[in-house]
Amino acid sequence: MPQGSVDITYDRCKLCGVCVAVCPTDNLEIQEGRLVAYDRCTGCRLCELHCPDFAIVATREDVKGESGGKKTKSKGGGKKKATTGAKSESGGD
Ligand code: SF4
Ligand code: SF4
Repeated sequence: MPQGSVDITYDRCKLCGVCVAVCPTDNLEIQEGRLVAYDRCTGCRLCELHCPDFAIVATREDVKGESGGKKTKSKGGGKKKATTGAKSESGGD
């Protein structure tokens, strides 16, 4: 499972609980008037995308730097020989 982490800007967080509600791994919780994050973050970014105050930013730890596009070679199947063996015999007599 990909690992991620979240960065919470406490100045902006109004403890609305939206991120807590959307987090699929229950990584976030509001405890004693403060949003806390555990170590179950997958970096899915749902919290970040749903936070109305841009107070939380998620990072995927397996996406460091550039992710080069993998080239996948598609093997072309066997060559088909087009045989046009349509002989038209016109046996006339
Ligand atoms: S959604 Fe944003 S403002 Fe609301 S509790 Fe989470 S981090 Fe704080
Ligand atoms: S990035 Fe995903 S898993 Fe991590 S805290 Fe936000 S919603 Fe939860």
